[in-house]
Amino acid sequence: MTTAYDKLIAKTRERHLLGSTAQLLGWDQQALMPEQGIEFRARQLQLLARLVHRMLTDPELGDLLAAANDELAGAAPESVEAVNVRELQRLWDRSTRVPEDLVAELSEVESLAQHEWAKARAADDFARFLPWLERLVTLERRKAEALGVPEGGELWDALGDLYETGMRAAALESLFRSLRQELVGLLEELRAGGTPPARSLDVPLPIEDQRRFVRFASEAIGFDYTRGRLDVSTHPFCSGSQPRDVRLTTRFTEDELFDALYSTLHESGHGIYEQGLRYEHAGTPMGLAVSLGVHESQSRLWENTVARSRAFWDWLTPRLGGFFGARLAGWSAEDLWRAANIVQPSLIRVEADELTYNLHVMVRFELELLLFRGELEPRDVPAAWNERYRDYLGIEVPDDRRGCLQDVHWSAGLFGYFPTYTLGNLYAAQLYAKAEAELGPQAERFREGDFTTLRTWLGERVHRQGQRWLAPDLVREVTGADPDPAYLITALRTKLRDVYRVA
Ligand code: ZN
Repeated sequence: MTTAYDKLIAKTRERHLLGSTAQLLGWDQQALMPEQGIEFRARQLQLLARLVHRMLTDPELGDLLAAANDELAGAAPESVEAVNVRELQRLWDRSTRVPEDLVAELSEVESLAQHEWAKARAADDFARFLPWLERLVTLERRKAEALGVPEGGELWDALGDLYETGMRAAALESLFRSLRQELVGLLEELRAGGTPPARSLDVPLPIEDQRRFVRFASEAIGFDYTRGRLDVSTHPFCSGSQPRDVRLTTRFTEDELFDALYSTLHESGHGIYEQGLRYEHAGTPMGLAVSLGVHESQSRLWENTVARSRAFWDWLTPRLGGFFGARLAGWSAEDLWRAANIVQPSLIRVEADELTYNLHVMVRFELELLLFRGELEPRDVPAAWNERYRDYLGIEVPDDRRGCLQDVHWSAGLFGYFPTYTLGNLYAAQLYAKAEAELGPQAERFREGDFTTLRTWLGERVHRQGQRWLAPDLVREVTGADPDPAYLITALRTKLRDVYRVA
């Protein structure tokens, strides 16, 4: 007898076949497609998106969910079946609560607003973008109301919840408040009492050599090239349609080896997570990543915690000659490690270092909250932005192009998204502290090129669990504690005092 649950899963897998096909075409568009393919590709993707949406909102799915919920009454809440139904129900609610005409209007406004935003940014003309920002905030508020404010929460939470289920503005405010104070304090300490690294790595190196090198490094930390690829795109990304086919991209500039290396290792961290999901559950919640924040924790953990450690450079430095001949012969592991950890407050989020990055995120989060609480008018965004850059980062924003117009997110309707970046950093530090508590210090292992011990631990504790728990519950389950900024603060303080030789 076929149960409603079986039918529900069969439909979900079918939808994933279609959705993952669209994902692959999206990857191809960024990595391989000839320029003139764009118009036809847009039509292909539009059709697939429409079909996926139709499958998502098929009324039969609502009936199957209701029946499956009945079938599973009394099942253990963390069983595969209960997890799948819980998360599919959530997806169903999200897909069907927002009225179709609002979905259509948002999609049109977002596409126009992105176009106008690009022009406004190029011309450093906030006034040009302002009417679009006003319209987007109004529409996003309506969307949040349609989705429904979570119990005890506020309007912003309905959007934040889309990217990190269970994330609440009030909890973030308190997490971020203590994190901000500590980070700003550490920044001042490094400035006042530290010795900045003497050299930054700007040696020109042939792209072909860099390509072999970053592939070697990503393979060493555990990205499996029999189940994945590495290509080039303007903005590096990871596209995982299923655990046996994970696509990474990176980018190369002659005199920026760190950009290629750390972009690759960041995306490899995302890729290792995708490859670590359970193939037998592909396309169902038990075979999918938990959230953006947890995904980001995996990329940051490999990029920052592992690959910006002294032990990592002790292992890697003697191997550089095999890729670059004598070009980096004058660089010691100490030089490279220090150069990889330079802290410098700057205007642009995507170029920020490990410490100040979080301050960039907090500025955006605070402004979003004020906008959604009705305590800030869109026209006052530039002034509020610049004031915070002065307070938190100690820098003057010279123009809106390098200020509040720098990110694409708001023009794309991605309100509620930014905090997931900093949550990723928090989770990474907390998970890594637990890994070391259980496995012992990892530095000696890294020095010998053993990254398998850590990766296996993450695979068992995080990757293979799929969506069994929501992000904060996963952190609690694995580490035995609530998400807590103290781990990140301690990790940064220990490393950066060392890098900056603060007594
Ligand atoms: Zn990432």
